[in-house]
Amino acid sequence: MDTKVIRIDPENIDITKINEAGDILRKGGLVAFPTETVYGLGGNACDAGASEAIYAAKGRPSDNPLIVHICDYSQLESIAADLPSEAKKLSDAFWPGPMTLIVNKNGVIPHETTGGLDTVAVRFPSHPIANALIRESGCMIAAPSANTSGRPSPTKAEHVIHDLSGRIDAIIDGGPVQIGLESTIVDLTEGLPTILRPGYINKQMLEEVVGEVKVDPGILGTENVHVRPKAPGMRYKHYAPKGDLKIVSGEPDRVIAEINRLAAEGEADSRKVGIIATEETKDLYHAGHVISIGDRTDEYEIAHNLFDVLRRMDEYGAELIYSEEFSTPRIGNAIMNRLLKAAAHQVIEV
Ligand code: AMP
Ligand code: MG
Repeated sequence: MDTKVIRIDPENIDITKINEAGDILRKGGLVAFPTETVYGLGGNACDAGASEAIYAAKGRPSDNPLIVHICDYSQLESIAADLPSEAKKLSDAFWPGPMTLIVNKNGVIPHETTGGLDTVAVRFPSHPIANALIRESGCMIAAPSANTSGRPSPTKAEHVIHDLSGRIDAIIDGGPVQIGLESTIVDLTEGLPTILRPGYINKQMLEEVVGEVKVDPGILGTENVHVRPKAPGMRYKHYAPKGDLKIVSGEPDRVIAEINRLAAEGEADSRKVGIIATEETKDLYHAGHVISIGDRTDEYEIAHNLFDVLRRMDEYGAELIYSEEFSTPRIGNAIMNRLLKAAAHQVIEV
């Protein structure tokens, strides 16, 4: 299949081009498009065949449900059953934006889209291209991240072209995304609202709106690797670069010394070594291929660059990758959740 790349300027949207993409969706085809979090691989959420095609194109296990993207709160009401009062409060506070709500579903969204579950994940994105596409196509759009399953999520159109060209009908290139981490997922189907995947909207922000919020114990990190996460997608190996990634944790000087030692050891063994550093530390490494993820004091920049840096390590052909740790104040949880998964929880304490 030939994949058409459609360039659209998010600041000056060409509706003719949006309609071209909308036509593809209405006919059951697949279109990748930018959102504020990462690029999504979209199909008509009400069309079981389109959802099956999404799983096939990504190589995604079919028990891992898709997020349904909407452009109006009434669309949530049209697909949910017994919507709890928190849904309105949270959506008033954070939609359009990087938050996904899990609610009980009625019969409108087929089980093919929800991985067989009786609940559905719903998000109202803020990206102007995503909004225009949902509105003009007249479809609610089922869209997982537009990467090959298991690979780092795509934050630029080039990442999508690399993974999915030849496998889907079209890719809308709207430039790099803003946030670079997938949405915060909040489950509203059992008692207290529960975070199933951390993201840009953090626990404290949610609690300011709805009171106490839980975090799924299955995503809490190394101590809890034996607890099964509730979101099926959080159970799989994910975000992984091709090289063997390890995180080095501890006091900064010792981290740098240990990464220098490991990198020299790897190179002495004729291995290609990559190092994920920051603007502050990048000149302190004497071996390995060093990539700066950004300024340590700017956690939004780190989030924005994370998946791109993992992909650049693959382009370099890194066989061993050592990363500093980024436990930053506001979204450090979300960043480290992705990095720990990419590293299969391999952490070297110094
Ligand atoms: P992605 O589309 O790649 O951002 O992944 C969507 C995430 O949402 C995956 O981790 C899914 O397992 C999760 N998800 C989608 N629908 C549900 C649901 N009904 N219940 C729990 N998790 C869900
Ligand atoms: Mg994904």
